[in-house]
Amino acid sequence: MSVEPLPRLSSDDLRALAGQRSRQDCVVCAPLVCPGWESVPSTFHLDQLQPVGTLRGEDAEQATVMEHHPRGTHAWSADAPIAPAFFPYNRCDVWVCGACARPFLRYTEYGGYYEDQRIRALNAALLDDAQP
Ligand SMILES: [Zn+2]
Repeated sequence: MSVEPLPRLSSDDLRALAGQRSRQDCVVCAPLVCPGWESVPSTFHLDQLQPVGTLRGEDAEQATVMEHHPRGTHAWSADAPIAPAFFPYNRCDVWVCGACARPFLRYTEYGGYYEDQRIRALNAALLDDAQP
């Protein structure tokens, strides 16, 4: 693993990444393609993804835990906005499929007795630059 800090990505960076896919029919990341948040399937090998950046600020622990749902969506909605300034996006790193460059957002949900790797496909149409 590299110890280099991941570059902080802007919304424009995310839009650019979302337009860079090399192919539409990738079998590597097909099991991960999910419009809303899902747990990473236990059968998927995460080393097939490459980290390209982060949405975490310098003080991620202090970042808001508020979510952004102006249109009545909820955390698991397929059409929930992707608002980098809000939870959980402000805890996310950005990964791309090593085979086709499809971008994904990933963070670790810490429950009382579990840790869950959550993943969501990056859909540029859902990006929302709102600030808390
Ligand atoms: Zn892929």
